[in-house]
Amino acid sequence: MQPPDRSTLPLVFTAPRRGKPPVHWADLDPAQRRGAMEAAGHRAYRARQLSAHYFEGLRDDPDTWTDLPVAVRGELASTFMPPLLTPVRELTCDDGDTVKSLWKLHDGALVESVLMRYPDRVTMCVSSQAGCGMACPFCATGQGGLQRNMSTAEIVEQVVDGARKLAQGTLADAEAGRTPRVSNVVFMGMGEPLANYKAVSGALRQLTTPNPDGLGMSARGITVSTVGLVPRIHELATEGIPVTLALSLHAPDDELRDELVPVNTRWNVDEVVDAAWEYAKTTKRRVSIEYILIRDVNDQPQRAEQLAKVLRRRGTWGWVHVNLIPLNPTPGSRWTASRRRDEDEFVRRLQARGVPVTVRDTRGREIDGACGQLAAGSADIDASVQVPARRG
Ligand code: SAH
Repeated sequence: MQPPDRSTLPLVFTAPRRGKPPVHWADLDPAQRRGAMEAAGHRAYRARQLSAHYFEGLRDDPDTWTDLPVAVRGELASTFMPPLLTPVRELTCDDGDTVKSLWKLHDGALVESVLMRYPDRVTMCVSSQAGCGMACPFCATGQGGLQRNMSTAEIVEQVVDGARKLAQGTLADAEAGRTPRVSNVVFMGMGEPLANYKAVSGALRQLTTPNPDGLGMSARGITVSTVGLVPRIHELATEGIPVTLALSLHAPDDELRDELVPVNTRWNVDEVVDAAWEYAKTTKRRVSIEYILIRDVNDQPQRAEQLAKVLRRRGTWGWVHVNLIPLNPTPGSRWTASRRRDEDEFVRRLQARGVPVTVRDTRGREIDGACGQLAAGSADIDASVQVPARRG
């Protein structure tokens, strides 16, 4: 059966209105938490205690809140820490170093997150929307359309879950005397983060606020990946949270990018690359240009030259680096990954023009947990359960 022609999918910027998820402690700022604590009939200082349990201790089980009166623990838990993510299924590969979690949200929407352990860091890949409205034809999420925006706490909870998994530790870690932390968060799961700006910027604040009021992560370890919503890129630059911006460019020319990243018809290559350049200038953070390599579609030597030109035109002060991503297979896709020699030539051409470039190590392919493979549909559940975990 032929898949429907994806180029006809509409762009959807506004998420359908659905019942909002319950408000959670991780949706509130410290002042709101004190206010909410008082409104619930408790002393304001209890807010700090509860925050320390959640953000520092990663504890949401009221039985562990031993510095709070027994009589109020259960009530505080049900008021402030409603369960937001219900685990549906977990798949692992890379000898347990990559874990993909499928979650059910309060209204039945499904999202996925992926925890990836490397020797020197742990990266949590989070979803920011259930589905996605950006309609990129090579991406499994984009093909399913947008269900709804996620709340700040729904995003934060994915990171907290990853942190808990690490804190529980594995035998290997115990033997090595390690307690790894989530050092990196990438907004490269389901959804277009900048199309859910308010919740995503709220989550960035919760992640980077120091303990005990937030998770205390460094903004340096956080990457927000976008198809290129120009006004929101400018807004992100003003947040005072200098996260890394990743721009999913995928083509250096408008003709091809219109097809690969349909939002290009709204903000074209020149406009998004200008916005990325401005972001680097304002935040002093090097921007990452994401470029999927698709066989005979965007991997020709001239395109590498053109990409180098587009980037170098804005200066060579180290504002940018290119991250090449081998295309991951998605159901019904007519495209495949580039040949090795074309990939090598693409890298060589960029390097010859002085453009820093890396090729992404794609984790989680065999559990459909790699870039663009997160679909969270029932078909995905059926397909991936049958796939045995093996080393990639
Ligand atoms: N909507 C955001 C974030 C999610 S996707 C964005 O598009 O940037 C994260 C990265 O995975 C993006 O660079 C995206 O283009 C890439 N991606 C999507 N589908 C892919 C596929 N099939 N193979 C490889 N990378 C893919």
